[in-house]
This record gives sequence, C-alpha cells and structure tokens, in this order.
Amino acid sequence: MQQPKAPGSVTLVGAGPGDPELLTLKAVRAIANASLLLVDDLVNSAVLEHASATTRIVHVGKRGGCKSTPQAFITRMMVSAAQSGETVVRLKGGDPFVFGRGGEEVEELQTHGIRVEVINGISSGLAAVTSLGVPLTHREHAHGVVFVTGHAKSGTDGTDWKVLAQTAAAARLTIVIYMGISSARQIQAGLLQGLGADTPVAVVQNATLAHQRQAVTTLGALVQCIDREQLGSPAVIVVGDVVRGIQSAQAEVARARNA
Ligand code: SAH
Repeated sequence: MQQPKAPGSVTLVGAGPGDPELLTLKAVRAIANASLLLVDDLVNSAVLEHASATTRIVHVGKRGGCKSTPQAFITRMMVSAAQSGETVVRLKGGDPFVFGRGGEEVEELQTHGIRVEVINGISSGLAAVTSLGVPLTHREHAHGVVFVTGHAKSGTDGTDWKVLAQTAAAARLTIVIYMGISSARQIQAGLLQGLGADTPVAVVQNATLAHQRQAVTTLGALVQCIDREQLGSPAVIVVGDVVRGIQSAQAEVARARNA
C-alpha cells in the first residue's frame, strides 16, 4: 500500500531590509530547509546562498521576470505545492506582516487547511532610521512611532494625513511612511495641516544596501527635495523630531571639516 504523502507547509519568512547580514537565524534555517522558495521583489538575492542545491527557486515579483505575478496565482502555487508535500518558503522583504500582505496570505492558506508559520524580519522602516544613526523613539521628544503606508489599497479610504499629523504633533510620535514616494505631494499637503513646515523629515532609499541614499529636509520642502535628489522607490519617509538628531550630527561633521 502506498504511504500517504507527508503534509507540506508554508513559511512566510522576512528577509529583512536588504543587508543579508540582517537575516535572523530562524530565517536562515527555514531557507536551508525549503524545497521550494518563492522570492518577492526587494529580497536581496544574496540570501538565496543559504538555499540547498536542490531547492527550486521561483521569483514572483515584478523584477523576477513576469510583470508582478498576480497575488491569486502566488497563493494557488503555494497551496498546491504544500498539498503535494513541499516545504514552501515565501521570502518577503522586511517583515512579512508589515505591509507585506502576509496577513492576507495566511488567511488564504489556512482556508485551504495548510500549515503556516511566520518568521519575523527586520522591517525597512526600522532599519532605515537606524542606518541614519538616530532612534525611532526618544524619551525627550518622540514617545511612539506610527508605521503607515502612502499607498492604500484602491477602493479603501486612504490615510487621513491631517488627522495623523495632528495626532503625531499632540502625542509626539515619529511617522514612518512606506511606499510614499509617488504620492509625496499629497502626503506633504495633508501633513502640513497638522505639523509645521519646519518639521524635520528624512528620506531613505535602499536602506542598508551599498547603494543606500538619503536626504534630510523639512516637511515644507519634502517634494522639492525628492525631486532635486532624484530619490525613488524603495524608500521610507521619516517625519518627526528624531530626524533633528541627524541634522545636528551632520552639522557637527561639517563644522569639524571646516575647522
Ligand atoms: N514588508 C516590508 C515592506 C513592504 S512594502 C518591510 O517590512 O519592510 C514595500 C515598501 O517598503 C517600499 O515601497 C519602501 O517604502 C519600503 N522598503 C522596502 N525595502 C526598503 C529599503 N531597503 N529601503 C527603504 N525602503 C524600503
């Protein structure tokens, strides 16, 4: 009699912001044990070095070949591979549960009775701010942090930037905006209704990678700065007083240079 196949599984793994050294040990182990790796855009291909020689690797993002593989197709692929006994690892940039549609995927997989595990990764918002040498929170001037998308799902109410700005001003919160470059003009206009034009802002592109670029500006000059510096995706926009720390650090470097 034929043995029933061992049940497969799917693990959503956070590949971190880019620097492959920021992978967790759990992520490395999951990649090494995978029989099928589905790799998203923004995952540094250096992390694939942890895969075994027999692992099948499929790139499912825009840059992977197909013009952005539709979500439904990826989910179907994961379900059928897991049902046929594969150990599927879905590698996602940053953390799978921070704007990575990880929640939607887990729900879908569970509907099909698939065993799912999620392994955290370092989200790009955290890494971007750390790469600038300032903390996200500070007992003196930033009592919390809001991670927000600049690109809400179409058909849903987008973020109310005015309310967010008023809340951040009142509660002294740092705002970290993902996917905000293409709607920076609208975000800037909304935030200016609750925060001063002189509020410090940093834009960090390709955080933690060798080609990281960043600029420090003010809310009033945000769009001008993005245009002038030709900053593009993937980038996070950081708004709040913690950014002042970068400005003073830069001023100190400039003073030391001129001394
Ligand atoms: N799950 C991911 C976010 C996915 S949404 C995470 O936790 O980081 C994609 C957005 O993440 C990009 O548009 C950009 O805003 C941000 N992002 C991803 N990698 C980045 C990087 N290396 N530097 C700056 N921003 C990045």
